[in-house]
Amino acid sequence: MNHIAHWIGGAERAGVSGRVGPVFNPATGSQIAEVDLASKKEVDDAIAVAKEAAKAWRSASLSKRSAVLFKFRELLHEKSGELAKIVTTEHGKVLADAAGEIARGLENVEFATGIPHLMKGNFSEQAATGVDVYSIRQPLGVVAGITPFNFPAMVPLWMCATAIAAGNAFVLKPSEKDPSASLFLAQLWKEAGLPEGVFNVVHGDKEAVDAILVNPDVAAVSFVGSTPIAKYIYETGTSHGKRVQALGGAKNHMIVLPDAELDAAADAAISAGYGAAGERCMAISVVVAVGDIADPLVEAIAARLPKIKIGDGSDPSSEMGPLISAQHRDKVVGYIAAGESEGATLVADGRDISDISEKGFFLGATLLDNVTPSMTVYTDEIFGPVLSVVRVETYAEAVELVNNNEFGNGTAIFTRDGGAARQFQFDVNAGMVGVNVPIPVPVAYYSFGGWKASLFGDSHMYGPDGIHFFTRGKVVTSRWPDPGTSAIDLGFPQTR
Ligand code: NAD
Repeated sequence: MNHIAHWIGGAERAGVSGRVGPVFNPATGSQIAEVDLASKKEVDDAIAVAKEAAKAWRSASLSKRSAVLFKFRELLHEKSGELAKIVTTEHGKVLADAAGEIARGLENVEFATGIPHLMKGNFSEQAATGVDVYSIRQPLGVVAGITPFNFPAMVPLWMCATAIAAGNAFVLKPSEKDPSASLFLAQLWKEAGLPEGVFNVVHGDKEAVDAILVNPDVAAVSFVGSTPIAKYIYETGTSHGKRVQALGGAKNHMIVLPDAELDAAADAAISAGYGAAGERCMAISVVVAVGDIADPLVEAIAARLPKIKIGDGSDPSSEMGPLISAQHRDKVVGYIAAGESEGATLVADGRDISDISEKGFFLGATLLDNVTPSMTVYTDEIFGPVLSVVRVETYAEAVELVNNNEFGNGTAIFTRDGGAARQFQFDVNAGMVGVNVPIPVPVAYYSFGGWKASLFGDSHMYGPDGIHFFTRGKVVTSRWPDPGTSAIDLGFPQTR
């Protein structure tokens, strides 16, 4: 049995807690490894190592930090195929999709190579007579990332590239379901010349997470995962004096107006609904069909479903892989049954793939029509290959539906009417909006984040917000007076 250890101080470190968790290959359904689960003491030890490393790393020049980032970028680019295989083996997503998440993570590294520019402050000469004022941003010290199973490479890269470039030491607690990608990244950081202890990985579950949240040496916590845990992380972390950004779950709506290009909308619904078997926080899970486009749209989506090739993600011909675990697959199956019993029309039933499902955690693509906002398939984040269609009569009803939803991660509108699209962007309560783009994940030089129950905190992830989150500001007011002009003045300083 392959054993997955922690990475602390620039080397693998075997766990000593005596607790391990299973890691599966979801395509075969068999356990392929066990991962160490850290105790509080092990997490505290890793944080202590990071604290020491942070002292020296913040003194490394901007050009030195940038050089490490450039080297890391080259290695990641060169070895992305190897990393994609690791992601596919433990997560199940198809290889092309794994390569896609690495490419989007790579963008964050490329952004962070520009750290000398990104850390620039402002300077105001002669703010008062003989007085200059300038701002600088400094790293926080030790910062932590806690990441979900569904993007084992990209989400850690969202966080660590900016955090490290900004001069912090980083402690990653990846998902215990697919932990190997984080160790691969650790190895690349080492090869790139990052000093020992600046990037660390502690595997674990709630015990490890709680240890991070209460450790006084952790200045900030960046979290991505489900909403209940995001809320818990935000509340616990902030009550322990930490800066926290906690990104949660989603229920992303794709609105299709009557004038939309039908085939493009149907293709987009399939790609965004069933890609990665629906296990994406930006997956489309609700199609809102406005007016008389509903019948042809449902028909066009349904006609495309049988063509999706489901299979082992390591087979290049597969388009959709399995779900992460048997438990999760069974939960999604439960939602399909609930949708049916609550009155939705089952247009396509993903449970009908017994030929594949015996081998791994597979589930076919499911399409539910005539879904209403009171059904559990609508209210809950399913996180599986289940697409719901809600029919409404007007644009206003469609927007109201999105705005009344608990979540506000991404949303998209499909239309040929520029005015309607512009109005939608103005009206809608969501953090990321697509216009004829079903998965509007912002490029790395913007920032990623949702509204409402999709994000707790006030900073979005990566890009300019990421730099802001992982640094703190300082403003210097400076005067170099002629000693001859010195005088006592007990009044409040004014700018003259
Ligand atoms: P999860 O919330 O179960 O786990 C996320 C992390 O929290 C993991 O590292 C896990 O070990 C830890 N964790 C789990 N239970 C915990 C507990 N009780 N106490 C403390 N820590 C705990 O999420 P997941 O199933 O790994 O990922 C899927 C979820 O992540 C979905 O809800 C998805 O929408 C969300 N997600 C959101 C975004 C986004 O950007 N908003 C991106 C990716 C995934």
